[in-house]
Amino acid sequence: MKNILVTGGAGYVGSHVIVSLLEQGYGAVSVDNFYNSSPKVYQRLRELTGKDFIDIEADVCDEAKMKEVMAKHDLWAVIHCAGYKAVPESVSKPLEYYQNNLGTTFSLCNAMRQTGVTRFVFSSSATVYGEPQFLPYTEEHPTGNCTNPYGMSKVMNERILTDMAAANPDWGVVLLRYFNPIGAHPSGRIGDAPGGIPNNIMPYILKVANGLLPVLPIAGDDYDTPDGTGLRDYLHISDLAEGHVAALRYLEDFTGSEAVNLGTGQSVSVRELIRGIEKTSGKTLPTEIKSRRPGDIAEARADVSKAKRLFGWETKKTLEEMCADAWRWASQNPQGYEGE
Ligand code: UDP
Repeated sequence: MKNILVTGGAGYVGSHVIVSLLEQGYGAVSVDNFYNSSPKVYQRLRELTGKDFIDIEADVCDEAKMKEVMAKHDLWAVIHCAGYKAVPESVSKPLEYYQNNLGTTFSLCNAMRQTGVTRFVFSSSATVYGEPQFLPYTEEHPTGNCTNPYGMSKVMNERILTDMAAANPDWGVVLLRYFNPIGAHPSGRIGDAPGGIPNNIMPYILKVANGLLPVLPIAGDDYDTPDGTGLRDYLHISDLAEGHVAALRYLEDFTGSEAVNLGTGQSVSVRELIRGIEKTSGKTLPTEIKSRRPGDIAEARADVSKAKRLFGWETKKTLEEMCADAWRWASQNPQGYEGE
């Protein structure tokens, strides 16, 4: 059995990645410091998969600890999901964002070199593409034109990992450029659980549907799009998680580095997303039109042909399933993991 280190394994993406790994016969070792997640997720993961895995409370920036973990658990690959991810916060705290989002990668790469681990899957983001020069974004679209430190930290990580793969011919690196993951595991037991006022649209919609926030701000309805609201390529979190396992399979006999988009190839508007949750929840959501967020673009949509070609991966879940699963999770866990 191949053992995989999942950093940020208690987080929204990492927890769903662990489900996919365990279901497909991999061993998982999660490292998380619960900076933005709850240890309660682990028990739920064990219940819903019927499988065990190792969980370690540690800061991924702690290089000695990462080396110890890699050596002890006979790891084959690293899936690096840990990171700070709030765009507005990254603007006010750039140093913290660069220090953490780059420091974790430095620590992992050093530990890998010392222990002989050669496979790396990185949680990157479509934000690396910036303002679209053409759509859908192919992996060849220029990157680096980001408007905030969060996005730049993804760009810099991509560059560091690409350079590491070039310098170490036995390394295999996949940079997964996520579009907009939403939804939750169909069991309703794990999902996205941001505290406070969410930055992303889906958790915000769900908090309004649960009555935890009074009104949904629509960040601009004057975009050059069919209904005036922003268009994004939303994909189901379980499909996204499967994309990581597909990347691992690809890495079995691949060395070098590849950037790969994970999306559906379709874009959906803010209003369509609201309607999706209204339909599945049976509620009418109060909205108010606000001004555009600085740096927001009208549309983001992935060219998904590379993921299909390299990994044989494509999304399977519909927007209806994304909304139904998101609402099942949110309605059953209105306080996230803290409600029990
Ligand atoms: N959005 C919105 N209200 C919010 C948050 C987001 O209308 O409170 C819109 C935003 O303008 C964009 C879409 O929802 O069109 C997705 O935003 P999100 O922050 O979830 O993802 P990203 O912009 O990073 O793709």
